[in-house]
Amino acid sequence: MAFDLRRTKILATLGPATDGPGVLDDLIRAGVNVVRLNFSHGDAAHHAKRVEHVRAAAERQGREVGILADLQGPKIRIEKFAEGKVALKAGQAFDLVCRADAAPGDSSRVGVSYLGLVNDVGVGDTLLLDDGLIALKVLKVAGDTIGTEVLTDGVLSDRKGLNRLGGGLSLGALTAQDREHIVIAAKLEVDFLAVSFCRSAADMDEARRLARAAGSDAALVAKIERAEAIDRLDEIAEASDALMVARGDLGVEIGDAELPGLQKKIIRTALEHNRVVITATQMLQSMVDNPIPTRAEVLDVANAVIDGTDAVMLSAETASGQYPVKAVEAMVRICLGAERQFDHDTDFEKAPRNLQAADQAIAMAGMFIAEHIRVRAIIALTESGGTCRYLSRFRSAAPIYGLSRHAGARRRMALMRDVYPVDFDSMGQSTREAARSAIKRLHDLGLLANGDRVLITSGDHMELHGATNTLRLLQVGTDGAAEGLGVL
Ligand code: PGA
Ligand code: MN
Repeated sequence: MAFDLRRTKILATLGPATDGPGVLDDLIRAGVNVVRLNFSHGDAAHHAKRVEHVRAAAERQGREVGILADLQGPKIRIEKFAEGKVALKAGQAFDLVCRADAAPGDSSRVGVSYLGLVNDVGVGDTLLLDDGLIALKVLKVAGDTIGTEVLTDGVLSDRKGLNRLGGGLSLGALTAQDREHIVIAAKLEVDFLAVSFCRSAADMDEARRLARAAGSDAALVAKIERAEAIDRLDEIAEASDALMVARGDLGVEIGDAELPGLQKKIIRTALEHNRVVITATQMLQSMVDNPIPTRAEVLDVANAVIDGTDAVMLSAETASGQYPVKAVEAMVRICLGAERQFDHDTDFEKAPRNLQAADQAIAMAGMFIAEHIRVRAIIALTESGGTCRYLSRFRSAAPIYGLSRHAGARRRMALMRDVYPVDFDSMGQSTREAARSAIKRLHDLGLLANGDRVLITSGDHMELHGATNTLRLLQVGTDGAAEGLGVL
């Protein structure tokens, strides 16, 4: 088992650039904790092949690597042009045609994938194409055609994305295609399922219901990338296991000036609700073409770490960039540097007072003790990884080892900041015996030394989820880890 004591986790998007021989192995060796399958591209067979390669590479290296399936969601796109692309000039008229049989586009008009768009926009609205590179002002809406004026010069090519500044598009979060993709993701036994453009808790509930019906126990990730989702962050967080600060589409919908404040707000909200949080998009964008990041990108990644994110994500940098491995190496370097600056002064003032579950209460008490008595490690004997999620919401100085016999639980823990999953089976042992063998296991791995103090959480019934009810403070024996345990 290979160990890498970096607190912040790294998510890397797979794509053509990671399909080459040995690239996945290099990415995992460099420190990728979770990979993202982008369901906007590629077919089921393609995703299955990538999953197989990831599992094989993780196995070879003795690493726990999670797999996230990212649903496309209701991304509105323009249709194709007769010539593949057109050049638009500021001031010219340009029509969006909301008709299924719209002819291939030209420099005066193009079809749109979402026919209902015509009902959602009004005169004066701003529509943004290709991540905001081209802006259109709506002048009139007549029949199935939206008449606009082009505000910025630019080249527009087939199938580019379309957003409305300020949000407010009526399209539901789960398309018919997403529903099929949930079944495919369940068959691939992915660990995380990301819902794009979610608007409400109901969207997340529906995705969870479909996933469970398809036999998936994946953790649900809500991608916050719509203006409406910002008003409902609390309910979305409650209905999800993790949030993603999806800065790409979010920045287009709400304008870039709002983005820094919202990133901090989404991270804070996730932590308050005991949810995991991923910061995504363009983090090292220039590394698509260059072997080193810009200073601004270095600061961006570091600031996300300082904001308290669990994970940082790479998109085109690994999926289609020229330097996928170097991008991961840069991410690792920057995260480690930022973590050294991070102030681990855990703030119990902000901790929740309305503890809802025994494992949550145990986790909070454990972190309080860990903050006031120096411990080398916090060890959670956990079935589902739930205790580790509670433990890791406090940004403490001590590493948290999540010991579980379930591979799925270990891979879900791979996304949590400060948590290091370890394969460990204590079935049939008393909690006291299990604590002893857990310490021995970590000692054997070189993670604990004689005399270290550790905190261990466990449940009386190890096979039950959410049954953690015990906290032990122990010291590693002087004559070997397995001996000399004593309650301090
Ligand atoms: P995407 O989502 O890469 O699937 O668009 C992330 C984002 O919008 O930032
Ligand atoms: Mn997006």
